[in-house]
Amino acid sequence: MAKKQFKAESKRLLEMMINSIYTQKEIFLRELISNASDAIDKIYYRALTDSSLVFNKDDYYVKITPDKGSRTLTISDTGIGMTKEELENNLGVIAKSGSFAFKNENELKDGHHIIGQFGVGFYSAFMVADQVTVISRALGSEEAYKWESKGADGYTIEPSEKASVGTDIILHIKQNTDDEQYDEYLEEYRLRSIIKKYSDFIRYPIKMDVKGQ
Ligand code: ADP
Ligand code: MG
Repeated sequence: MAKKQFKAESKRLLEMMINSIYTQKEIFLRELISNASDAIDKIYYRALTDSSLVFNKDDYYVKITPDKGSRTLTISDTGIGMTKEELENNLGVIAKSGSFAFKNENELKDGHHIIGQFGVGFYSAFMVADQVTVISRALGSEEAYKWESKGADGYTIEPSEKASVGTDIILHIKQNTDDEQYDEYLEEYRLRSIIKKYSDFIRYPIKMDVKGQ
């Protein structure tokens, strides 16, 4: 599988994420849940204008699955998914829409947690993961694709399998070092508190499915 290179600008951001300049690493979960929620919004809005599509509220949710056995944290959504081209275009380069942009000026008024208010986006996953795998199947497609990257040296995309439309983001969580702790991102109570802190406003259910304890 030929490895593709990130665009120069993306590579710089990625390197910053890998080297974790942020003290608030926990915000990666906010970013991934907000992407999942955006992906469900896209189906919701499409259903408003496409009568062949029914938005059944119970079918749309985000699921967080920590697995200590495999040292993975998976963020799944039943959102709109990504085609092969979208995986390439959306994850191979910095999305211009929001990455590294301020979420909203009002959030910054009290001057607290300024860094935490940046929309650092998908690449923030690399603050806590040494490998990120994205398996996605786009709405209207029978095919699924797998995007995978260990960081700055590039990514691969190959055909994969997925039973239903949506996206699974599988983070292989880094090993603890003398300076940094990562095990906590596999702990249910810790994940619940991060979700409470940052994702209370998400309008779709966030479920937790603990594995490998
Ligand atoms: P932003 O959310 O600000 O656009 P991100 O870096 O967080 O930037 O995400 C980049 C892009 O990747 C998104 O705009 C979206 O198109 C795509 N994407 C990321 N996560 C998902 C997901 N779970 N489902 C569908 N598309 C996604
Ligand atoms: Mg985002």
